[in-house]
Amino acid sequence: MVTLGNPQNTIAIINKYDFVFQKRFGQNFLIDTHVLEKIVREAGVTKDDFVLEIGPGIGTMTQYLCEAAREVIAVEIDHALIPILRDTLSEYDNVTVINEDILKVDIAAIAREKNDGKPIKVVANLPYYITTPIIMALFESGVPVDSITIMVQKEVADRMQTGPGSKDYGALSLAVQYYAKPEIVANVPPNCFMPRPKVGSAVIRLTRHAQPPVDVHDEKKMFALIRASFNQRRKTLQNGINNDPSLPYSKEQVVAALRAMNLPETVRGETFTLEQFATFSNLLVR
Ligand code: SAM
Repeated sequence: MVTLGNPQNTIAIINKYDFVFQKRFGQNFLIDTHVLEKIVREAGVTKDDFVLEIGPGIGTMTQYLCEAAREVIAVEIDHALIPILRDTLSEYDNVTVINEDILKVDIAAIAREKNDGKPIKVVANLPYYITTPIIMALFESGVPVDSITIMVQKEVADRMQTGPGSKDYGALSLAVQYYAKPEIVANVPPNCFMPRPKVGSAVIRLTRHAQPPVDVHDEKKMFALIRASFNQRRKTLQNGINNDPSLPYSKEQVVAALRAMNLPETVRGETFTLEQFATFSNLLVR
């Protein structure tokens, strides 16, 4: 078995299988052992853990995960990588590769079947185009998740971690912070990947809250309000909400809720903390 995580062996495997990188699948493979060790360490993976890896590529991080975890399931969309994974993971009997689009996989069923429904760990060097949908799917679908440790575009990691007052603050920040505690644990430059991406990357760990930090009567409605207020970032919160045809609140209701919070009618949504969105949503959605 070839040990991956360095440029020579990555090139050797790619040549052996005449593998052609697919840009549409966001294929940038890790070639730095320090980064790989750091991800697995920060994910806190132990021999008790069941780990879901999204997008194993040629199996680089999968090898590290197989060493650290009890069991690994790796979901890879590109069928050209399946024979390669069979080769690079041949020495491990604690891994299953599924050739599927992660967005079509019933992760809750996997957790039920493979981990008795107990919380799983998700670890991935994510294809950047599905970062937001996959995180939201993991949180919103009720999959039992302990933590998600993922490599994402640096800018997206910043968006997840930031609060009001930053240009990066938005619906993703609030959604992530409602469900989890985000911590950027490493910044990773382009030269740690093959081929090199154009942007910098970061590893962020999202540790799921046992209980959300705020009390909300209706989560879905709160997130609809959040999305509406960031859709029109430069408008007032009131305009953002009243201009969204899917939201049934009158101007009077919005103004009354803001007054109850001692806020002016002209307040912008981008200044609201998660607590304020929760209070506002609870005042509107009774
Ligand atoms: N984990 C490997 C590594 O670190 O070297 C590869 C990471 S690469 C950034 C992303 C991987 O995700 C690619 O192998 C790509 O084919 C796969 N991928 C892209 N979209 C996917 C999807 N919707 N479902 C599952 N895998 C996907």
